[in-house]
Amino acid sequence: MMSPDFNAGAASLLRQIPSVDELLGRPLLRAAEPRWGHRNLTEATRAVLRQLRAEIISGQREEVSLGDLEQQILAEAERVARPSLQPVINATGVVLHTNLGRAPLAAAALERMTTVAGRYSNLEYDLERGQRGKRDQHTDRLFNELLGVERALVVNNNAAAVFLTLNSLAERGEVIVSRGELIEIGGSFRIPDICAKSGCLLTEVGTTNRTRLSDYAGAMNERTRALLRVHPSNFRIVGFTERPHLDDLVELAHRHGVPLIEDLGSGCLMDLAPYGMADEPEAARSVRAGVDVITFSGDKLLGGPQAGVIAGRRELLDRIRANPLFRALRVDKLTIAALTATLALYLDNQIDSIPAQRMIRMRPGEIEPRAAKLAARIETLPGFSATIEAGESVIGGGSTPAQSLPTRLVIVRHAQRSAEQLERLLRQNAVPIIARVERERLQLDLRTVFEDQDEEISRAFERLATSDKEGQ
Ligand SMILES: *Cc1c(COP(=O)(O)O)cnc(C)c1O
Repeated sequence: MMSPDFNAGAASLLRQIPSVDELLGRPLLRAAEPRWGHRNLTEATRAVLRQLRAEIISGQREEVSLGDLEQQILAEAERVARPSLQPVINATGVVLHTNLGRAPLAAAALERMTTVAGRYSNLEYDLERGQRGKRDQHTDRLFNELLGVERALVVNNNAAAVFLTLNSLAERGEVIVSRGELIEIGGSFRIPDICAKSGCLLTEVGTTNRTRLSDYAGAMNERTRALLRVHPSNFRIVGFTERPHLDDLVELAHRHGVPLIEDLGSGCLMDLAPYGMADEPEAARSVRAGVDVITFSGDKLLGGPQAGVIAGRRELLDRIRANPLFRALRVDKLTIAALTATLALYLDNQIDSIPAQRMIRMRPGEIEPRAAKLAARIETLPGFSATIEAGESVIGGGSTPAQSLPTRLVIVRHAQRSAEQLERLLRQNAVPIIARVERERLQLDLRTVFEDQDEEISRAFERLATSDKEGQ
């Protein structure tokens, strides 16, 4: 029970709370209106008053100062006015971080988007004939040059690509998949569920670790509409394993007159073996092997916008294009602009201009001097210490779990604050900095930090050190 004294004091404080209008009418807040806008200031004022009321009732506040309230409202207005979707600094070392927007776009892709988006474009207009065209025309030729495919379609993401392909080619029929490839990618994408939703009956063959060509052959019947091969992406079965060679699977499918569909996961447009990635399948290799339809993501290894690419034989792609669901899953002009510009960088051999590709290729020797510079600056700050350690970055985005990239980590410690506290404070930075805590230590991996963001990280630590001093 609260004491009668407290109740009386709280009640009197509650009566002193000014109204929203009274606060907004004060000179300081009126002067701030052009900057934050009436709507944001009102919302901030309401939030601050709500908190004030709660603090008075719980006995945490013993006075109401208008000056303090004004300062709180201004700070809150800045927070409220910030767009919900905003850039962050990715210091996790996960290159394709699904929570952090996967692939950052190349400058050329951004430029293409702004050029096209603010004006009318020939999105679906054939400039030569002066009549209606198809949005596919913009990507078709590029994929033809890059992969040697007859035809390509672009949809919202790879999940949509797999769904639309199965629904178009195998609805009401059977699709054969190896038990070792019935995967789940990040929660909601599960091969069995996608098959079911696309109206196909999934025929599982083989075992988790071993599936032979004869398993596929034994399951073929007159209701079989396709064979589906899936890249296991974010997991590996190692040890006593077996799966048929792609060439043999192609041969089997064609002997029975059904297509082989391959969900490649990442859109790997080139051989990454020289960079230590041996088991990321190259899209062109599947096409050369005779796979009829491949699907892959636009924002994984390809390094472009969120998109799903369906590519392969013309006759099959035309059937997929004719599916009424294509209309529901197709991409807009922004995606087409960003994707075509990214693909052009591959064709022009300017792959280092694609941020995700550049980050993946970065050697520890390039990361080390930046890490050393950052650590040296943090070391000078009171309460902080920083060291450099060898560590590993990961590609992420559902690719190659076994292969990590050697990196140099900056390990930061603080005399009073825990690693979790530091991690949270960095996340609250004006440009949020996302770092990792491992073995109760804060670690920063500069592989995924753009070089021009190094300075902001230094400054964020400097501000933390300064606020510590002021707080003492
Ligand atoms: C990532 C992935 C998907 C889903 O791709 P999104 O573009 O995220 O929809 C599907 N299949 C495989 C094999 C994947 O790796």
